[in-house]
Amino acid sequence: MTEQEKTIRTTCPYCGVGCGVLATRHPDGTVTVAGDPKHPSNFGRLCSKGSALGETLSLDDRLLYPEIDGERANWNDALDLVARNFQDAIREHGPDSVAFYVSGQILTEDYYVANKLMKGFIGSANIDTNSRLCMASSVAGHRRAFGSDTVPGTYEDLELADLVVLVGSNLAWCHPVLFQRLEAAKAANPALRVVVVDPRKTATCAIADLHLQLKPDTDVALFNGLLAFLAEAFVVNDSYVNRFTQGLEKAVEAAGPCEIGQIAENTGLSRQDIALFYKMFARTEKTVTVYSQGVNQSVVGTDKVNSIVNTHLATGRIGKPGMGPFSVTGQPNAMGGREVGGLANMLAGHMALENAEHRGIVQDFWQSPVVADRPGLKAVELFKAVREGRIKALWIMATSPVDSLPDADGVAEALETCPFVVVSEVTRAADTVPYANVLLPAAAWGEKDGTVTNSERRISRQRAFLELPGEVRPDWWHLSEVARRMGFAGAFSFEGPAAIFREHAALSGYRNEGSRDFDIGAYRDVTNAAFDALEPFQWPQPAGMLPADTRFFAGGGFFTESGKGQFVPVVFKAPRQTERRYPFSLNTGRIRDQWHTMTRTGKTPRLTAHFAEPFAELNPIDAEKLGIDPADLVTVKSSYGAVVVRALLTDRVVPGEVFVPMHWTDQLASKARIDAVMAPETDPHSGQPGSKFTPVAVAKA
Ligand code: SF4
Repeated sequence: MTEQEKTIRTTCPYCGVGCGVLATRHPDGTVTVAGDPKHPSNFGRLCSKGSALGETLSLDDRLLYPEIDGERANWNDALDLVARNFQDAIREHGPDSVAFYVSGQILTEDYYVANKLMKGFIGSANIDTNSRLCMASSVAGHRRAFGSDTVPGTYEDLELADLVVLVGSNLAWCHPVLFQRLEAAKAANPALRVVVVDPRKTATCAIADLHLQLKPDTDVALFNGLLAFLAEAFVVNDSYVNRFTQGLEKAVEAAGPCEIGQIAENTGLSRQDIALFYKMFARTEKTVTVYSQGVNQSVVGTDKVNSIVNTHLATGRIGKPGMGPFSVTGQPNAMGGREVGGLANMLAGHMALENAEHRGIVQDFWQSPVVADRPGLKAVELFKAVREGRIKALWIMATSPVDSLPDADGVAEALETCPFVVVSEVTRAADTVPYANVLLPAAAWGEKDGTVTNSERRISRQRAFLELPGEVRPDWWHLSEVARRMGFAGAFSFEGPAAIFREHAALSGYRNEGSRDFDIGAYRDVTNAAFDALEPFQWPQPAGMLPADTRFFAGGGFFTESGKGQFVPVVFKAPRQTERRYPFSLNTGRIRDQWHTMTRTGKTPRLTAHFAEPFAELNPIDAEKLGIDPADLVTVKSSYGAVVVRALLTDRVVPGEVFVPMHWTDQLASKARIDAVMAPETDPHSGQPGSKFTPVAVAKA
């Protein structure tokens, strides 16, 4: 390495694996990246997206200056205008007439400031996030079972297990480094079995000993049947259940008897495969069940989560090496956002909005004039409120809802009619940008500084290694400056991310004597230099208790009122059906080499080479019936909207189903925003949209 070259330890900005990255800046301005061998989540591994990060740092589409109504403006005028419009709306229509819609892409420090401003100073809980589209069902399921949003295990558990069940998770494409770890563990341990539960034959099936290709949204039937099987075969861990849990009988009663024939009919699986899976699960003590968006993105997502968690509570396989239910998050900081209360139904520090004592703790700590005392609007209902004129001022940060929310055309119409829209963004290539009255240029990966939390509760530093270009500023600064102009200068006088992290850590430990799961009080006095040097660590780390136990619930200690883990009775309901006009079931998701709306991954040819254009996976049997040949253009249409994409004929999907990736925007390809086709139906507990099922019609374009 030459003298001018400098290597910085940072974290990948893409998926929830949260890999450590070494970014080296060279004298010619180029940046190369490598996996950080010292990071305990990836040990030097990277996937295709992470290893291409250095090729995605160009400024060609960047927003470099604030804009008001499409014209360049100075920061003072832009921030004054934002503060004035929010204040006017609050004065005339009350605090619930304004809202923030933020993102799992922003850092924990940005999230903390946004949440503090909205819930503690504006006095509304109208702050929701695109994590609602990603994780909300797991959050709701965790809170029902554990009394807190706690992931009990750690990545190492996948390597220590003898059975890994992957439910609704294409780990190979969506969490590739975790998949690499599992692949290596399977090679090293021939006894390790992998079961994939997924309606689609994904790349993850390459390492599956058993693929359960069930009908969409029938997971509850499969896991209720498993719970009944465990009860009937006396595999229940009575000692764990009696000491540490409540409600097994009611959950077993709700599950009904283990009638394999009925389960086969409900799920579309063969009796043999169901029986084989149940026996494997029953006989394997070291079992981890990993679940992701196929579970969460469903109108019965929370019930799916609890049907899985019930089976682990019943066997006592939770929080022990190689055992547990394990939710893997989609985004780089979905967990960090949850830690600071970045959802419309949560408070900071994993405290509960509906709990008066928790509200008192937060308000006292913040010394704030008010604290929101009822849940705000969740993502889909928030944009419905915008459309109905109930939201007068909206601030969107680091996400493009006109691309990513269901009924995306309806979201675009909502933004058109909203009296005042602020967008904090990195790029002009987001379809939401044209709807902004005020555009605020935000710092991107490589320029930002702060922390993120990955799926195993590991907090890592994202460090800056590039100067802020133009007049770009980080999101926490945008928010603090507006807060200051709204009259809250004292509470928002942060000098930088270290100061915000200290406050966040202090709040997590405030009046928390083990009564809440999230506690990083050990870091409440961290100096700026120590924050700069912060090594990745897993929470909890309460003050005076280093290092922490990295697993939860092996010996009870749940965060429910009774201190016991709760079985949740879950009743299987037959999934929604397709219709005569719309006979196909639409499934959406990620592809291996792209991230969200491709504003970064789309910049490098080696990533776009994987799939150069949007497509619809169709079974050849359906294609023949519809007269569709390979690579034909096809229309995929619902009652909400339509896309025109290339047909990809494959047996990865079964007849009657169609899969379309979520990444393409209007700026990338005409008529390829699949979220414009998706129905805005949500889970009643979590508010998460069912992004894996919309009835659609498919025809040659
Ligand atoms: Fe980044 Fe996820 Fe790939 Fe790791 S697995 S390099 S976090 S995209």
